Amino acid sequence: MLTLLDGETIYSLLSRFFNSLNLSSAAELNLMIFGKEKKRVHFYLPSQIQLVADFFGLNSHELLHNHTLYDLYWQFLPRKRSRVLKRLMLANNERRVPSSIIESNSSLNSPYYIKYCPVCTTLDIEKLGVTYWRRIHQLPLLNTCPYHKVKLLALNGGDGGVAHQYLIPIASDKPNKNCEEKLQLKFSEIIINLLYKKNKKALNISNYYDDFLAKHNLKRSNSLNLAKLDRMYEITMHDYDSFKYALSYKQFVRILRHPLAPVHPVKHLLTLTILDLSASEIENTTVFPNKLCDNKNKSIQSVDSKSITSFYRKCGSINQTSKNFHVSRLKTKKILKVEGVIPLTPLERTVCLKALLGQHRKVIANEMGLSIGYIEQIISFQPLLVEHRKKLKYKALEFEYKNLVITYIDKHPNGTIKDLKSQIYKEYYWLYRNQHKWLLANTYKLMPIHRSCSNTSEEIQKSIVCFILLYKPHSKKFLH
Ligand SMILES: [Zn+2]
Repeated sequence: MLTLLDGETIYSLLSRFFNSLNLSSAAELNLMIFGKEKKRVHFYLPSQIQLVADFFGLNSHELLHNHTLYDLYWQFLPRKRSRVLKRLMLANNERRVPSSIIESNSSLNSPYYIKYCPVCTTLDIEKLGVTYWRRIHQLPLLNTCPYHKVKLLALNGGDGGVAHQYLIPIASDKPNKNCEEKLQLKFSEIIINLLYKKNKKALNISNYYDDFLAKHNLKRSNSLNLAKLDRMYEITMHDYDSFKYALSYKQFVRILRHPLAPVHPVKHLLTLTILDLSASEIENTTVFPNKLCDNKNKSIQSVDSKSITSFYRKCGSINQTSKNFHVSRLKTKKILKVEGVIPLTPLERTVCLKALLGQHRKVIANEMGLSIGYIEQIISFQPLLVEHRKKLKYKALEFEYKNLVITYIDKHPNGTIKDLKSQIYKEYYWLYRNQHKWLLANTYKLMPIHRSCSNTSEEIQKSIVCFILLYKPHSKKFLH
């Protein structure tokens, strides 16, 4: 049996085992260990660790803490979530993927390639005679080896994904590129400190941010010094678009405001990096550099659908396209469908047809056994259909609300506008906004509010008071 190497991932152990047995397909190994042919082993948050531990006669907790990124991630998760993450990673029969509980829609969750350091690999061959994948290199956004400060290399298995094959790193003969990016170097330094710190206690992130903000005068009573934070963000991030995609300025401020709200752990790591890097610079800079001002108003989140479609046409892979533009897979797919690059499936076409006929999304969802969210998503692939449905909805509302007003006037010929409003408030204001002329033309017969106020109980009360005062001048109490 194989022994685990320092900081080796579970995927790496399986890959080395696979290669030592000379098996013909990954399915054979999956069947031996997991009891099924199809299994995708996550590079740093794998599931079914207990099965792997049992197979190799290892301790599952040792695997969890020393051979996955659990120890780094759990420090930034609310307690409940970190417990669920642990359970999902260890258990044998869990349907949910562990990474799904960490900001499930984040593109930071999907590893389509596996990374390694060329220096580590060469040294491993010299010392151990084998190469292996290290857990720390697999962290999203990290592109530098924390030990050797050189750029990591990546292995991309195409759309099938490297996770469906068992591969081992190959020593590269290309010259190593040293990393000179401040952000990457600080980022890797923070990661290694947190992952290998001596006490196993979680970092108290809330206290850490509070102390930091107080120390650098970034907080007055309860409000944050947004001008300074904005500058800190720009100073650190202005050359790093991929980091900007992962953590927008808005998210950065939200994290500082609500450190305990659930957010992807890598976003906390980035926040720590920004604070650490810019703290000293911010003290000295008083004038905002022009270059940064120019960048400030550029929308980082806007996605150029034309370049996405042309990139996809060249490479033919959704995964690669989404990775290249730092856009989630779902969004990439949507853009490609909207642009007509990918055809709709028969199911999607049926949904669109039903939507075209004006069926409510709930009805379509029920009829086809799909979720409402999925129906909405399919409809959104067709911008013309969305427009068409908006018009249909407008017409339906217009017809319904006008009818309500006319029925009310017919039933209450002496009613007032005030009464009408109190009876059908929402409908009245919808018409007020969208069909103003129609509303005026049809409600002019109703009495306006001020005339209807005369002779109300208030007026009568006033006259009674006057009457009493006239006849009983000593009872001044009534005046108050
Ligand atoms: Zn290295």
